[in-house]
Amino acid sequence: MSSADSRYTIVGATPEQQAAIDMLASQFLLTDERLGAIIKEFRRRMEEGLATDGRVLKMIPSYVTRRPLGSEVGSYFAIDLGGTNLRVLKVTLDGRGGVTSEHQKFALSEEAKSRTLFDFVAQCVDTFLDERNLRPLGQQPPIPMGLTFSYPVQQTSINSGTLVQWTKGLNVPGCVGRDVVRLLQDALLRLGLRVKIVALVNDTVGTLLSAAYSDPAAQMGIIFGTGTNAAYYEDVANLAKWKGPNPSSGEMVLNMEWGAFDSDDFAFLPFTPHDIKLDRKSINPRKQAYEKMISGMYLGEIARNIVLWLADQRLLLDGRSSEILNAMWSIDTSYLSSGAVDTTSDLSEIQQVIEKTLNISNSTFVDRQIFKVIAILVGERAARLSAVGVVATLTKRSDLLNKPVTVGIDGSMYEHYPYFHDILVETASHFIPQEQFKNINFTLAKDGSGVGAAITAMLAATYDA
Ligand code: ADP
Ligand code: MG
Repeated sequence: MSSADSRYTIVGATPEQQAAIDMLASQFLLTDERLGAIIKEFRRRMEEGLATDGRVLKMIPSYVTRRPLGSEVGSYFAIDLGGTNLRVLKVTLDGRGGVTSEHQKFALSEEAKSRTLFDFVAQCVDTFLDERNLRPLGQQPPIPMGLTFSYPVQQTSINSGTLVQWTKGLNVPGCVGRDVVRLLQDALLRLGLRVKIVALVNDTVGTLLSAAYSDPAAQMGIIFGTGTNAAYYEDVANLAKWKGPNPSSGEMVLNMEWGAFDSDDFAFLPFTPHDIKLDRKSINPRKQAYEKMISGMYLGEIARNIVLWLADQRLLLDGRSSEILNAMWSIDTSYLSSGAVDTTSDLSEIQQVIEKTLNISNSTFVDRQIFKVIAILVGERAARLSAVGVVATLTKRSDLLNKPVTVGIDGSMYEHYPYFHDILVETASHFIPQEQFKNINFTLAKDGSGVGAAITAMLAATYDA
């Protein structure tokens, strides 16, 4: 790509600055041909994961084999453990596909992320129930709850599963290989809290089920938040590795764990030196390669690496940096969101971030234009790459694409990154025949992960699923 694309032309840049930006653009912009090759590989990896355990795409059976009807009623509880926040919810199903929910949000403390996670979660559940006068007394039956757990778990039943590995910045010792429901149940017991975890779901499975309660056409649930992952209904006949009983529906929701795509050989994704640097310094090197190019936890850090690379060549900020800019993870992805659409004539929003957040004064207009280009390149690559998994999955079930199909999507990246939805849809449209593509409906399933856990708790309670 050359600076012929005016979006990457920096007004007033030196030739050296423009050359560096052109090089970045050539690394970050992906042709359809390149994407097509990645989609093909993604499909091959899906097939591999459906056939055999322990492959790079794990394609984990969720033990959810039903679809909610939308006519179920009642109130159900859930805990949603995300990468950044923990929410406890009470969800009320109205029987007409609608839900209302009441929730309380708790920020995961550093101590919780590194040490005391399950006790912290139990404490939050206690607070939620206590403040609403819902804590069961000695004689009362325990409250059934669903747990959304957005880390890779090898599910062993609808309410048990062992942690495969931590991702997204959590690193609590002593959990990998153990049943996470058991760990939480023990912590609840330590508090004397009468709560029973009846369903364990990945956040993508939750997102899919929450979409399915209101829309029978829901087929796929995706998260683009702190991390990224997806779940979809697969025909059990396609799941060669499944040794359990055949569900009467003939279907199983699979948690794809797609964030791991290409982590084994780093051969297909467009790795730049900035991605490699991030990976090397992350707590999970050589893992979650796809996630690290797409999701909220990482994009700010990729941008920071680019900024430093340019500054160190004195092509940006006159070579200056700051303590904060030098610190890993100091650029939140939300700054990329606002920077990419700063349309003020002097890029004053970007100037604010450079000055107030990064603590660097006297940025030039050239500096600010470069920041904007970085935000656009990193964000648009993420959105283009996100279409890879979407296309590979939907075309895998192309048998369903001849009638309406709904894809429920949750997560701050999807919700807030400008044009993420538009670029995702536009890119996907290049790889799916038009007469099928028009049947696909991409919708925001806001807070779907928690609501979905409550719906799964309902399925477990109602149908013995
Ligand atoms: P979780 O993944 O924990 O469920 P979210 O879906 O809210 O949570 O995603 C949080 C991630 O999204 C964080 O990494 C944060 O940096 C990023 N983020 C938050 N706001 C924005 C925004 N406006 N634009 C892009 N990314 C954002
Ligand atoms: Mg979430």
